[in-house]
Amino acid sequence: MGTLYIVPTPIGNLEDITLRAVNTLRAVQLIAAEDTRRAAILLSHLDIHTPVTSYFEHNKLSKLDRILSALEAGDVALISEAGTPGLSDPGYELIRAAIERGYRVVPLPGATAAITALVASGLPTDAFVFAGFLPRKSGERRKALLAVKDDRRTLIFYEAPHRLQAALTDMLATLGDRSIGVARELTKVHEEIWRGSIGGALEHFAGEVLGEIVLVVAGASEPERWAEDRVRAALQAEIDRGAAATEAAKKVAGMSGWNRREVYELIHNA
Ligand code: SAM
Repeated sequence: MGTLYIVPTPIGNLEDITLRAVNTLRAVQLIAAEDTRRAAILLSHLDIHTPVTSYFEHNKLSKLDRILSALEAGDVALISEAGTPGLSDPGYELIRAAIERGYRVVPLPGATAAITALVASGLPTDAFVFAGFLPRKSGERRKALLAVKDDRRTLIFYEAPHRLQAALTDMLATLGDRSIGVARELTKVHEEIWRGSIGGALEHFAGEVLGEIVLVVAGASEPERWAEDRVRAALQAEIDRGAAATEAAKKVAGMSGWNRREVYELIHNA
């Protein structure tokens, strides 16, 4: 019974492949590749002659059985077009099916655009949300952005260069003028890591933009903590409006930076 190896490949610079990845790609019986043409370039560069089969977005389900039977006979490595398989790339269904059928699944750490961009952005790295690609239509994109608007964690998005202006415009409208890092062509000759505000990015990237892009956006900031007098006045206004104590406390807690328990205590100590 074989093992499924999840093998990251470079996101630009061909030197960004680990020794373990090279040894694994050489040792397995079969490589399941999202893009066989790109795989051929990489494998020829590494002088690796392992057989390759295609596993891409539109054949991934019909290919499952074929790859699972190959696993029955020996080890298989999964690679995507670039970076880590399964991350905004095919892989999920195969990895799940292999786990369900009891195959060993071994992940190799390696290149991925999201983490490379995050750590270079200068924005907090302690907690983050990888949101993948935003929807292509503005209405849906704004809805997706509103869903993460209040999240305090740093937000990471993949974006196509021809949609950069539209995405930044929708970010400015929904998230406000937050800090952003725009990482373009990471690890490649024309690498650019631009840091500033969303409004500033709209100006900087006003012309034609080429290449691959990751957007790293600051999470929501802590709401300002109101002074006690202001909290009491807001509570009174809610109660005068006819709101019950619990409802008033919840609403005022939401806008004042106080937690609900603290606001309750104010009501009871009025
Ligand atoms: N699996 C890949 C990974 O681990 O990063 C992501 C694949 S996804 C189909 C491709 C997107 O990743 C691009 O549209 C871009 O947003 C981002 N990306 C990939 N390579 C990049 C690079 N060298 N520089 C900036 N962004 C990159």
